[in-house]
Amino acid sequence: MRPAHEGDGIFLIRSVAFATVLVAMGGMSITTGSEASMNALHATARQKATDASIAALSSELSQRFGERVATSPAVREQHGHTLTWVKNQPPDIVVYPRTTEEVSEIVKLCAAHGVPVIPYGTGTSLEGHINAPYGGVSIDLSLMKRIIAVHDEDLDCVVEAGVTRKELNEYLRDKGLFFPIDPGADASIGGMVATRASGTNAVRYGTMKDAVLALTVVLPNGEIVKTASRAKKSSAGYDLTRLLVGSEGTLGIVTEITLKLHGIPEAISAGICPFLSVKAACDAVIMTIQTGIPVARIELLDEVQVRAVNLHSKLTLPESPLLLLEFHGSDAGVQEQAERFGEIAAEFSGGPFEWATKPEERSRLWQARHDAYWAAKGLRPGAQSVATDVCVPISRLAECVDATKQDILESGLVAPIVGHVGDGNFHVQPLVNTDDPAEIEACEAFVDRLVRRTVAMEGTCTGEHGVGQKKMKYLEVEHGPAALNLMRVLKQAIDPHNIMNPGKIVAL
Ligand SMILES: Cc1cc2nc3c(=O)[nH]c(=O)nc-3n(C[C@H](O)[C@H](O)[C@H](O)COP(=O)(O)OP(=O)(O)OC[C@H]3O[C@@H](n4cnc5c(N)ncnc54)[C@H](O)[C@@H]3O)c2cc1C
Repeated sequence: MRPAHEGDGIFLIRSVAFATVLVAMGGMSITTGSEASMNALHATARQKATDASIAALSSELSQRFGERVATSPAVREQHGHTLTWVKNQPPDIVVYPRTTEEVSEIVKLCAAHGVPVIPYGTGTSLEGHINAPYGGVSIDLSLMKRIIAVHDEDLDCVVEAGVTRKELNEYLRDKGLFFPIDPGADASIGGMVATRASGTNAVRYGTMKDAVLALTVVLPNGEIVKTASRAKKSSAGYDLTRLLVGSEGTLGIVTEITLKLHGIPEAISAGICPFLSVKAACDAVIMTIQTGIPVARIELLDEVQVRAVNLHSKLTLPESPLLLLEFHGSDAGVQEQAERFGEIAAEFSGGPFEWATKPEERSRLWQARHDAYWAAKGLRPGAQSVATDVCVPISRLAECVDATKQDILESGLVAPIVGHVGDGNFHVQPLVNTDDPAEIEACEAFVDRLVRRTVAMEGTCTGEHGVGQKKMKYLEVEHGPAALNLMRVLKQAIDPHNIMNPGKIVAL
């Protein structure tokens, strides 16, 4: 086993009172107990890269990649920006590879210098995922935009990591196919794999965990690995694909992705349905899901969020709790689904159900929904936005949203609610004056109550955004120490020198 020394530029095992997870060349030992509370401290086993190693690496990268290496403060800052109240921690260097082999070369150079690597897609993640708390190299995959193959007959495609979801759908449209996963931002497919993203369509089409068939990945030692074939199912060994999906760049860099696709439905209809309370809206959602109506989208906006959306997107939606819905299928199927939903809504005093009949109206409605984050920010100019992303089993949805709404009122926060409620997933977005310590404290306390309430209902602290820096402290609350230790063991086995996006998901 390689001993670790402070100052050796590679990694530092913290001197902790409890036992340490050791991954040795010949074997590993897993410890349990209070060790997991390290995550709450955001402790890590990493040191900041030294100025000397950064200078040497920068010179080697520039010789090899020329103008595709950037070190200007503006570019570095942009690659550490967080879109929320999480502070910017820029990388030292940004480099733009064009191929998997180039990514491998860069990672090998970083590994040789003991410098962290932070993969970068489009930078729309919300929990400090792309921050560089230990400095290092941001590998920006935006030049890797090839759509390598579309297999119409198999309903799959192979793309490079820098292709965005909108670019892919633009390309697929003429073939009558589409890729359904739609986070509000036009994120890269690589970033969506890394955060296990989803969006408004997940209730019908699943999340990135369901959409990915195989990955090409560059490991922390620069080795290139393909995780699976194009087969729709496989029992051939450990599921490396699913280990990598949601790993947030902490285990490797995804360079190519094989994705499942879907045929564009014959008929699509969308509409809005107002309710008297968020509880009534959620009760209607629960019954819709439990009775098996195959809704394609069912999204909740509370009245605060509707007001924000109206202002931002110049709409005139009724300013009450609102469900936005979409149905996919044949003409008759869509009509039947809509009628069945209308009856359920009426049972909970919801309605009238209004259709967005023209495709342009539909697009406008969903664009407004996708812009809800920016709309909410407009409610309190100058305030910072806080991202939350809890998800509960569908039967607990109404109870959880209702209790949370009550908590918002009591805490005096400006905090609109929007949610992919068909999956039990909703976002409260507190808008906080970060110059006011009391407000920060109140917001932190609110988020803490929200997460603990959710976990007590057998839910999760993050349904789709991921852990990044800000949700690390909740992993122990949700998973317990043994499962968190297992994650740590996996991280150390794959990335023993802790160079891949250190300081995210699990603390070492
Ligand atoms: C307005 C708005 C709405 C949003 N709505 C949703 C939503 O509905 N659903 C949802 O799931 N998310 C949503 N998000 C969050 C965000 O869009 C997703 O997390 C998205 O998947 C991030 O993709 P990205 O390309 O921007 O990744 P980045 O932010 O660049 O990176 C995210 C993480 O993935 C890692 N990473 C990036 N590329 C790779 C790669 N090729 N290989 C390995 N690791 C990589 C990074 O290191 C980082 O840890 C929203 C964000 C915004 C701003």
